[in-house]
Amino acid sequence: MTTFAIWDIDNCLADDTHRLPLIDLTACDNEERFAKYNAAMGGDEPCHVDLFNAVAMVATPVFFTSRPQTFHAETVAWLQRHYRVCANRIYMRAAGDKRDTVALKHHMLVRLRREFAYSNCTIVAYDDREDVCDMYQAEGVDSMRIAIHDSNIYVSCPLGCNHFSINHLGA
Ligand SMILES: [Mg+2]
Repeated sequence: MTTFAIWDIDNCLADDTHRLPLIDLTACDNEERFAKYNAAMGGDEPCHVDLFNAVAMVATPVFFTSRPQTFHAETVAWLQRHYRVCANRIYMRAAGDKRDTVALKHHMLVRLRREFAYSNCTIVAYDDREDVCDMYQAEGVDSMRIAIHDSNIYVSCPLGCNHFSINHLGA
């Protein structure tokens, strides 16, 4: 039996507070909205290190993040630098994948379970978003919401951007 702990990164392990002003709230397209925000991820400070280390003693870390795949190398290096972990299981947003974060992470969970045969692994999950944690719970995965700042900061929708729904989030 393998036990996995799924970890979100932004606003969960990575303190992205300094990047929040870089989110372009006037942009409806997520790639555009989070372009500068994502580009500055290397400067994040780690958070919840003690919790991560304690959980890592009993559960293999797996990372589910909405970060674009193009930031794979930078993200892996950051995790290695701050958490001393070799992130060989990291699921990221593929180029052109516009799915909302809940749908994206649900699909990541399906992939993980498929890889390890559903009945042969136990999974717990940590994420800053309530809707993502609710999805995990609905899938029978114990989840805990841990956040560094208010998760709603990503969803402030500018006037005239009506088609940008709460589900079209990047972080
Ligand atoms: Mg997050």
